[in-house]
Amino acid sequence: MKKIYTASSLVEGTLLVDLLIDAGVPAVLFHSNAIGGLGELPVTYPEVWIKRNEDENKSQRVIHRFELSSSESMTKQNDLVCQQCLEENPASFKVCWKCASILPLT
Ligand SMILES: [Zn+2]
Repeated sequence: MKKIYTASSLVEGTLLVDLLIDAGVPAVLFHSNAIGGLGELPVTYPEVWIKRNEDENKSQRVIHRFELSSSESMTKQNDLVCQQCLEENPASFKVCWKCASILPLT
């Protein structure tokens, strides 16, 4: 067993574990509800552990891809610019929050 990643949220940790298992790397997610009995330090962030230490190189590649894809989706969310008033809108918006024009599809 080896800790390979500290996730910033339970959702992120769960996603990464799914990706690792898809890639053939047995992995588990630990968080404060799963470990940390009386007298132990609580785990504040979810931790991703691999079951076989020899999978470390493979899992690092999965993590690298995972971090790339999550930073890409973050920049994409600021991408929508209203054609009418040039205000920026989150990518999930269908109409401009400022002038209510229909936003272009990305
Ligand atoms: Zn607008």
